[in-house]
Amino acid sequence: MCALAQMTLSEGATDFIDDARLTGLLREAAPDRAGVRDIIDKSLSKQPLAIEETADLLAADDPELVEEIFEAARRLKREVYGNRLVLFAPLYIGNHCVNECAYCGFRRSNRDVIRRTLNETELRQQVAALENHGHKRLILVFGEHPRYDADFIARCVLTVYGVRVGHGSIRRVNINAAPLDHDGYRLVKEAGIGTYQVFHETYHHETYARVHPAHTRKGDYLYRLDALSRAMEAGVDDVGIGALFGLYDWRFEVLGLVSHALHLQERYGVGPHTISFPRLRPASGIDPPREHLVDDHAFKRLIAILRLSVPYTGMILTARERPELRREVMAFGVSQIDAGSRIEIGGYTEAGDAQCMEREQFELGDIRSLDTVMRELMTDGYIPSFCTACYRLGRTGEHFMEFAIPGFIKRFCTPNALSTLDEFLADYATNETRAVGRKLVEAEIARMDEGKLKTQLLDRLRRIETTDERDLFF
Ligand code: SAM
Ligand code: SF4
Repeated sequence: MCALAQMTLSEGATDFIDDARLTGLLREAAPDRAGVRDIIDKSLSKQPLAIEETADLLAADDPELVEEIFEAARRLKREVYGNRLVLFAPLYIGNHCVNECAYCGFRRSNRDVIRRTLNETELRQQVAALENHGHKRLILVFGEHPRYDADFIARCVLTVYGVRVGHGSIRRVNINAAPLDHDGYRLVKEAGIGTYQVFHETYHHETYARVHPAHTRKGDYLYRLDALSRAMEAGVDDVGIGALFGLYDWRFEVLGLVSHALHLQERYGVGPHTISFPRLRPASGIDPPREHLVDDHAFKRLIAILRLSVPYTGMILTARERPELRREVMAFGVSQIDAGSRIEIGGYTEAGDAQCMEREQFELGDIRSLDTVMRELMTDGYIPSFCTACYRLGRTGEHFMEFAIPGFIKRFCTPNALSTLDEFLADYATNETRAVGRKLVEAEIARMDEGKLKTQLLDRLRRIETTDERDLFF
């Protein structure tokens, strides 16, 4: 208990989640149709919604209104993000853990799980395998354990950036790990991390206490809720929030996430870069209570409502979900997905086609290859992107600039998406995928206005296809 009490918080840290208030908002009756449509219109004019307005959308369960909410989310996605979709892969570094999270295969008391931490050589091998598939963006995932301190995380990041195989390189390393203190965040920032993600899992206090025993590090609700505020204070202005859907009422968790986003925005002038909304999956030795499991329809609603509530925040959909569902909900405002993912430690070189529960944190719903997912995305009209330009040029934190600055997406995001896609097609794609991709690139170029930008892009694509030049961005 002493150690927990000594952990430092951000300046003026407060527990800004008021369960009674959020529950009260959820109990209020839905506004009439006109009221819901006004809220949808506000969101379509790209203004973030207030908590009360989000609660009103959550209360609107009339099928016609729900369909209008879905359609608005699709429209906002098209208008704000266009048809780009950023791709990444998770890389599990180690599964030792001091916590007892009731839902996770890595919890300390699980004797069935095979514990392992990648050593430097193994880490390089995993990264090399990922580069050979065409990945450019990774998220490193860690259990919570003293051996995975900030210094260790920073060293892993530097090792990853140092691996270069053929034309391959990892250009952005994000982190999903335990909350750090201020010095810890400074250290990982120096190593060049992209986003630091900490999911609050459930914003509902009583449920939080039930699934995270009080004697564990994660049992301290405020320390975890404050994690990304400390990150902001330490200069990490690129952070990701998330909730694990299935632990408590999904509507409450949506309000928790939106409250968290608004809190960061109000306090630090920068909202979260991304929101994640993982759904609880089967895991080694775990039979989660069914009471709050989120069915597909509710899952679609929560994604659409999050999209409308925080129009400028990136949304991450993971391979926990089945391919068919991923395909459908992507259109609701998702901006990033993982593909070709393996979450067994060492899984990119050692796993076969089957998943092994004793080696992974939970079971994945989509283990198709990156090439297959890319081909499907392009067939559906998306531009898969590996762009890392903003982060490399220091355009972080104010990620909303891409939406705020007129023409930003046209001038930077789309050309960069096309050149990173072209790298994939030249270096890693199967013939079938390359053929689909080249057609897409041509069609996108045909849609561009004539001028300097188009000429420059065409020149870059020619250099990528005929020389060893890579990593050309605006
Ligand atoms: N150990 C760190 C922590 O708990 O924050 C970092 C990463 S943890 C390995 C990554 C995330 O996986 C957790 O934050 C949780 O939301 C999610 N997770 C855990 N068990 C899960 C399960 N059974 N199904 C789906 N997601 C799960
Ligand atoms: Fe450990 Fe994270 Fe799993 Fe909890 S969710 S048991 S902290 S790895």
